[in-house]
Amino acid sequence: MSFQSLKEIVETAAEQKKSFFRIVLENDMSERMVSEEESFLTMRNMYETMRKADESYDGKMKSASGLVGSDGWKMEEALQAGKTISGGFVGEVMIRALKMGESNACMKRIVAAPTAGSCGVMPAVFLTYQKCFSVSDEKMTEAMFTAAGIGTVIAERAFIAGATGGCQAEIGSASAMAAGGLAYLMGGKEQEIIHACAIALKSLLGLVCDPVAGLVEVPCVKRNVIGAVNAVTSADMAMAGIVSRIPPDEVIDAMRTIGMALPSSLKETGEGGLAATPTGAEIKKKLISNF
Ligand code: SF4
Repeated sequence: MSFQSLKEIVETAAEQKKSFFRIVLENDMSERMVSEEESFLTMRNMYETMRKADESYDGKMKSASGLVGSDGWKMEEALQAGKTISGGFVGEVMIRALKMGESNACMKRIVAAPTAGSCGVMPAVFLTYQKCFSVSDEKMTEAMFTAAGIGTVIAERAFIAGATGGCQAEIGSASAMAAGGLAYLMGGKEQEIIHACAIALKSLLGLVCDPVAGLVEVPCVKRNVIGAVNAVTSADMAMAGIVSRIPPDEVIDAMRTIGMALPSSLKETGEGGLAATPTGAEIKKKLISNF
């Protein structure tokens, strides 16, 4: 049975004297009735697919609507030319988040983590960390399990789809998952993991889902960047000993309450927010007339 709270995972880990990721891994083994090797391999393959998606990015591709494409490449050029201010690690995180978001919009193979719209957040953080700190694939897979445990709890207590909870449920959840996984990679224990998650999620509470013309392109691609960078800063805060004053499970509950209070125009219908701006409406009109 899936975990209903982060507290439950943390308490189980303490009782069994195991790490957060191992509790999630063992839960997957019993849920899917697979061996440890099979469970681990499935997750490792998912990480490998993220890596391949990142490596196969094509800077010349454009989405069918023409709204997105080439931004990952532009960001890379800027970083290489020393024109960015946010530093090498964050710069690379930004590049990968843009690339993956664009690849999704261009119908390339990606890993929904937790959704296709938010697919750039986790790989941006994890692949960059591995590249910069030379971590083994095994450790990266453990971070993936850590993130998956967080995602499972969010899905159980709230939601992970923009259509039900707004973008806080997609980019917010992805950011929380990446933050927890990153805290683990940085040497964090259970408390750092769940507080990194809480800090990341609370920072994106209220984010609405307002895709222009109903396409997962604008603002989705760039929101992957903010989700990924937010995960990095949240993990840094948690590793510095900063905690969320609101307990992590209560932050997830707040996300649910906010999501339920959002009007349907701000939940993936493409009727509100940026989609309803004069430019958003104009883009939609043009795209419809082209079909
Ligand atoms: S705006 Fe909506 S469709 Fe786009 S990433 Fe956010 S939740 Fe997904």
